[in-house]
Amino acid sequence: MNGRTAPWSATVLTLFPEMFPGCLGHSLAGKALDDGLWSLEAVDIRDFARDRHATVDDTPFGGGPGMVMRADIVDAALRSLDTGPADSRPRIFLSPRGAPLTQRRAREMAAGPGAIVLCGRYEGVDQRAIEANGLEEMSIGDYVLSGGEPAAAVLIDACVRLLPGVVGDARSLAEESFERGLLEHPHYTRPQTWNGMTVPEVLLSGHHARVAEWRLAQAEEITRLRRPDLWARYAGQQPGKGV
Ligand code: SAM
Repeated sequence: MNGRTAPWSATVLTLFPEMFPGCLGHSLAGKALDDGLWSLEAVDIRDFARDRHATVDDTPFGGGPGMVMRADIVDAALRSLDTGPADSRPRIFLSPRGAPLTQRRAREMAAGPGAIVLCGRYEGVDQRAIEANGLEEMSIGDYVLSGGEPAAAVLIDACVRLLPGVVGDARSLAEESFERGLLEHPHYTRPQTWNGMTVPEVLLSGHHARVAEWRLAQAEEITRLRRPDLWARYAGQQPGKGV
């Protein structure tokens, strides 16, 4: 980890700082981190506990199972970042009840200065810390993880790969799933025949326009079959495409 030194910087507040950089330290994101294209700082929320047992959570008012991360401790961790007006990074609390992370939101965030990301554990965080710090609640999908750290890795990876210079050929970003409102077409590589299965003839033709046409048709068919929600939006914008 290398502090706030790069133009795009992520600060993750967590009870498990040792989980970072984790998978973000490998492959594309890891190389970009080493190259200084982005920076990562993990802040240990437990450092802001006040008692000798380093307690960060307590039982929920109103009863019920589990524990809740205390507002005063989480707030102290956030305020320690001393984010004055110069730090315009979005402040995000990862939560299953947040707005879903989308490719569009990842693009917006990649175009900005970075992100401050709070990871919950247990039942979550006392609502007052979320409100007092104006946190944007964001979900990575309709399922429940045991903590926000894997979600933070997902969010940061989705942003970092969009930063200039991280992916070698920027065309591969433009053609990906979600960029045109469609899922991506299938891919093939060598060997040309494998397990009795061959590559679609058109991909061997060298005819760029026909290849592009085939790929678009495949992308449309896959989207129509697998994601009626995306298809309805896409088809509504394309004259002649029925839903
Ligand atoms: N009680 C919470 C609920 O029902 O919404 C679930 C808490 S979960 C066990 C603990 C933490 O994991 C959450 O505070 C959040 O930070 C993180 N988390 C779990 N699922 C997530 C998701 N789908 N997206 C983002 N963060 C998630």
